Amino acid sequence: MTTTPRVAVVTGGARGIGAATARRLAADGHAVAVLDLLEDQAAGTARAVEADGGRALAVGADVADAESVEAAVARVAEELGAPTILVNNAGILRDNLLFKMSPDDWDAVLGVHLRGAFLMTRAVQAHMVESGWGRVVNLSSTSALGNRGQANYSAAKAGMQGFTKTLAIELGRFGVTANAVAPGFIETDMTRATAERVGVSFEDFVAHAAKEIPVGRTGKPEDIAAAVSYFCSEDAGFVSGQVLYVAGGPRG
Ligand code: NAP
Repeated sequence: MTTTPRVAVVTGGARGIGAATARRLAADGHAVAVLDLLEDQAAGTARAVEADGGRALAVGADVADAESVEAAVARVAEELGAPTILVNNAGILRDNLLFKMSPDDWDAVLGVHLRGAFLMTRAVQAHMVESGWGRVVNLSSTSALGNRGQANYSAAKAGMQGFTKTLAIELGRFGVTANAVAPGFIETDMTRATAERVGVSFEDFVAHAAKEIPVGRTGKPEDIAAAVSYFCSEDAGFVSGQVLYVAGGPRG
């Protein structure tokens, strides 16, 4: 099936999974708005997309801030065209055992993942509904199933799944699908920071994780980008409200 070029927005696109996803969607033929907290960091990914022959725009915005989100989406629509693909990928960690977790740690994580996905989707869906076509892909995690030290993050990532299913129900009639990708262990700055926090080298952390993963390796950002690409494709038009664990096994 041929790809109709669309305008995609990838949040948290400066690095890691977001950067790989931006590059993959561009390779699929879409123009990509790379959104991250700092525009100059998003610009690195935008330049990589352009070097690959794609079309990109770097946008600085905080997904947890309503005004910032509205301004960013308006800018994307003006400079690239109406966005009809949205990947809610921006994320942070504030890990701690429950008894040591501060209300700020809780609010910050729920704010970026859940409030961020809500604000971004609310802003972009207007363009999708007007176009009669849209794809929303939300980043969940195997942590949605529970993970020690991540009460805030696991609640946010389980919340992303419920949010996804409701989007699928509400937006389906407008030609919009919504799905979630739930990664297991992926080699990015996020897992690097976790290794640092628990005091082991990243190499040892990766090797230890790989032993527990059925396919015998940890994931790369491109593994997740490929799953996002599928959900964004024309072929996936009858797939909505689903959660795909991309974890090298049933649980990662
Ligand atoms: P990452 O390398 O830490 O990248 C996350 C990006 O999000 C960063 O560029 C960060 O910007 C940006 N960001 C944070 N807060 C933001 C905000 N308020 N507004 C806009 N951008 C913001 O993370 P990753 O490992 O690629 O993870 C990407 C997504 O996959 C996250 O949702 C994560 O929870 C999920 N995930 C990751 C793994 C894994 O193993 N890596 C597993 C499961 C799920 P700054 O650098 O400026 O903070």
